Amino acid sequence: IHTNSKNQDSQFKVTYDMIGGLNSQLKEIREIIELPLKQPELFKSYGIPPPRGVLLYGPPGTGKTMIARAVASEAGAYVSVINGPEIISKHPSIIFIDELDALCPKREGAQNEVEKRVVASLLTLMDGIGSEGSEGQVLVLGATNRPHALDAALRRPGRFDKEIEIGVPNAQDRLDILQKLLRKVPHLLTEAELLQLADSAHGYVGADMKALCNEAGESDLL
Ligand code: ATP
Repeated sequence: IHTNSKNQDSQFKVTYDMIGGLNSQLKEIREIIELPLKQPELFKSYGIPPPRGVLLYGPPGTGKTMIARAVASEAGAYVSVINGPEIISKHPSIIFIDELDALCPKREGAQNEVEKRVVASLLTLMDGIGSEGSEGQVLVLGATNRPHALDAALRRPGRFDKEIEIGVPNAQDRLDILQKLLRKVPHLLTEAELLQLADSAHGYVGADMKALCNEAGESDLL
C-alpha cells in the first residue's frame, strides 16, 4: 500500500475493529471490496462486472487512510505501490491513492502537461483493469477531501464507480472512536465521563480525538 509520509504510525497493522463509528460505511466497503476479491466466480456467474474503483471522500482526519490500511490487511490482498502497468497482474491487488485530487485535478482547469498525462494514464489503467482475466482482482481505492476537484472522467462508471462519504462523526461515533483509541491505554475515566467527553467534543474528527488522547497521555506522564 502506498500512503504518504504523514502517516507516521504506518508500521502498525490496522484492523476494522480499530475504526470507530462508520459502521454502515465499513459494511458497504467490505461488501464491495472483499466479495470480488474472495469470490470472483460469483460475479462471473451472474455476469456482473465487479467494481473497479472506490472513492472515499470526506474531511481530513476522518479515517480514510485507516480504512484503506484495514481493507488491504484484512482482504489478504497483495498490496502494491502505484507503478503504472505493473499492477495489472494476476495477484489480487488493492492500489490506494491518497489525495487523489492532487494527482488528478479537473482537466478543464489549469492542468499542466504532466497532470494531463497522469490523468490520462490513470484512466487507461483503470480501463485496463478487468482485461486478461484479472477482473475483480485489482481494485483502485482513492481518497480525497475534495471530490468535486477531481477530473470528472475519473468518476464515470467503470472507473471510480462507487463513492462513499467518510464524514464527521456524531456524538455516538465519537464515543466509539474514543473507546477504541483507549482500548489499550491505561486510564481512569468512567463510562459516564467518556460519554460526557464524547458529547462535548462536537466537531472533532478521529484525528482530533487521537490528538486529544495523546496530549492527555503526555501530560499524565510528565
Ligand atoms: P486525510 O484526509 O487528511 O488523509 P484521513 O481521513 O485519511 O485524513 P486518517 O489518516 O485515517 O484520516 O486518520 C488519522 C488518525 O486519526 C488515524 O491514524 C487514527 O489514529 C485517528 N482516526 C481517524 N478516524 C478514526 C476513526 N474513525 N476511528 C478511530 N481512529 C480514527
